[in-house]
Amino acid sequence: MKISKILSLGSPRISFEVFPPKRQEISSFDDGRAESEMNKTKDVVSSLAKYAPSFISVTYGAAGGTTGANTCEIAKHVESCGVTALAHLTCINSTREKVALEVESFKKNKIENVLCLRGDLPRDRSKEDLCTAEFSHAIDLVNELKSHGLCLGGACYPEGHPECAHLRDDIKYLKDKVDAGLDFLATQMVFDNSILYSYLAKIRSAGIYVPIIAGVMPVINGKQISRICSLTGTMLPPRFRAIVDRFGDSPSQMAAAGIAYATEQIVDLFANGVENVHVYTMNKPEIAGAIMENLGAIIKG
Ligand code: FAD
Repeated sequence: MKISKILSLGSPRISFEVFPPKRQEISSFDDGRAESEMNKTKDVVSSLAKYAPSFISVTYGAAGGTTGANTCEIAKHVESCGVTALAHLTCINSTREKVALEVESFKKNKIENVLCLRGDLPRDRSKEDLCTAEFSHAIDLVNELKSHGLCLGGACYPEGHPECAHLRDDIKYLKDKVDAGLDFLATQMVFDNSILYSYLAKIRSAGIYVPIIAGVMPVINGKQISRICSLTGTMLPPRFRAIVDRFGDSPSQMAAAGIAYATEQIVDLFANGVENVHVYTMNKPEIAGAIMENLGAIIKG
């Protein structure tokens, strides 16, 4: 089903994100490791599907070296579990020809939803290099895909994208990207809901009216989170930092605190009119499951 249709069915709703295996291909030389990683990821998806999320998104290239074929394979498995799949697609290192092949493979596998992303700049390239690339920004991918009859989503950044000096400019570019043909937006994770509420007010007043899906990451690893925050430009509020400082060294305590914090954050989002929340599961169905159980009757399947 198209996600635009799901988003019109009523709320509150939860969706999940997973990442596909990192290994590039299944060959006879890898001792079956790639195949076993693929099967493990499929098991993660099957476990997540039991919670009847509104959809499951599958990242593209973000986990380091993963190929589009793996994204498509996992997205296909999502659909086979009876859940709508959202395939991420990045364009920064791509060509029109490669994008056309990816889209063909999505369509062949009945994947109707694509998150159109630029992808991060490779370390050896600068913003200036983008001028000569076939795709410089996500908007170019939206323009490339809009005639394919797919449901298209895009990314947005409540704390501003790290490369953009002013939030005002970031929102201006976002408006252009939405106007090019996006059906919905998914936000970068936030840990402080007040930042998201203020951002929503700003983008609505800039004339961006498509549905917004808010990203929430349950933090269960105190060491990882500082690195993730510095890469994505996400702020850790003092209340959350205190939790990481107190429980970060104990995996079981950090998991319990991270689940409690994410649950409370999601309840607050729903209570304040945010209708759709996307949980970054980090491929840990037990964590996503604990949050779903905490939310209980609050969510619709
Ligand atoms: P864009 O919309 O192109 O924006 C990138 C930057 O360019 C911004 O600073 C913007 O303000 C600026 N900009 C836009 N248009 C113009 C213009 N015309 N002129 C000048 N500047 C402009 N990465 C992955 O590799 N794989 C994934 O699966 C993945 N999934 C993600 C899911 C979500 C929900 C989010 C929020 C991010 C995800 N990312 C993923 C990370 C994303 O690829 C990076 O944040 C990337 O740096 C920007 O991608 P974008 O699509 O937002 O780019």
